[in-house]
Amino acid sequence: MPDRVAKKLGNFLQEIEQRSHFHAGYPYNLTCDYSEIIKSFNFMLNNAGDPYVEPDFGLHSRQFEQEVLSFFAQLYKIPENKFWGYVTAGGTEGNLYGMFLAREIYPNGILYSSEDSHYSIPKAARLFRIEHQVVDSQINGEISYDHFEQLISQNRDYPAIVNLNIGTTVKGAIDNLDKVIEILDRHQIKNYYIHCDAALSGLILPFLDGAPQVNFQKPIDSVAISAKFMGSPLPCGVVLTKKKWVERVETMIEYIGSTDTTILGSRNGHTPLILWYALQSRGYNGLAREAKNCIQNAQYLFQQLQLRGYPCMLNNFSTTVVFKKPSQRLIKKWQLASFENWVHIVVMQNIDREKIDTFIDELVLEQRLFNQVKDLQLQAVT
Ligand SMILES: *Cc1c(COP(=O)(O)O)cnc(C)c1O
Repeated sequence: MPDRVAKKLGNFLQEIEQRSHFHAGYPYNLTCDYSEIIKSFNFMLNNAGDPYVEPDFGLHSRQFEQEVLSFFAQLYKIPENKFWGYVTAGGTEGNLYGMFLAREIYPNGILYSSEDSHYSIPKAARLFRIEHQVVDSQINGEISYDHFEQLISQNRDYPAIVNLNIGTTVKGAIDNLDKVIEILDRHQIKNYYIHCDAALSGLILPFLDGAPQVNFQKPIDSVAISAKFMGSPLPCGVVLTKKKWVERVETMIEYIGSTDTTILGSRNGHTPLILWYALQSRGYNGLAREAKNCIQNAQYLFQQLQLRGYPCMLNNFSTTVVFKKPSQRLIKKWQLASFENWVHIVVMQNIDREKIDTFIDELVLEQRLFNQVKDLQLQAVT
């Protein structure tokens, strides 16, 4: 390799290692080591088409994809013979898929989702030309049930397509599935489709004692989960739905020897392998431990802020701690996501107590300096 190339690559690796160390604002598990499967990157893998239809083409990882999907089906309490799903390019593709199915099933359905929904939901509405009524949010980021009920009662003659946020992007709020079903029933909406955007919390909630039950034992129709919590060097995710819905939309494509059930054509063959390896190396119990640990550490961060009278918020069963914007320097250093006067830290596996303590120390120091400057300015004025 020429020196120039080696140097540039070396610098880049150093830079991303450094950035990974202070990465707190976005929900990515950065603790994973996939060196065991690195050799697979010398091969082209493409899972184009349906994960359950064996194509003529041999360079794919369907056997791993199917095992990953079976794990998620169990976690979401849907029997093997009733479910369908695939490994997606991320939470967004899962949301697009859910909205696509819903539109195919209820062409004149109206989509309801709160204003705190991920931007991929309004995008899906535009792509698939679904009428979208945006529901107000409560201050904690949860959907407003009153406003939802009001909209439902005005549109009684139309099927309802509902996107529920199982952990909103910004505040980590969980929309209450039971309340939403109750409202649909109360207004005798027979035709409805419930999609759950569980991008982040989808791999946390099922492991927590006393957490809201979001799974196929209730009348939900699809769930999108991102690999954020699992941790993956390549963005990916999983979407799950009922087999009966997919059978309505599939078409056989002779050229690929598979059915065209997915949003994308060519699909990443390495990400199923990554997810499979993650599941094998950590197992149900390992993931459960990580989920509980992240929740505890988020509560720890929240308490540390509260103890210091620093304005902050944390939803139940969430790892997203929202607090008042600190200086631009801290926002940059810790890569905090900011919105209006707020920022958040999403407590993932790589945000341990030591890192939280370091952050709090830096925040406290900054506040103290800020207050001293303010005092001095006041003295100068008086
Ligand atoms: C991150 C996120 C998404 C999108 O997932 P990607 O994997 O980035 O495509 C969707 N919904 C929610 C709630 C998210 O937090």
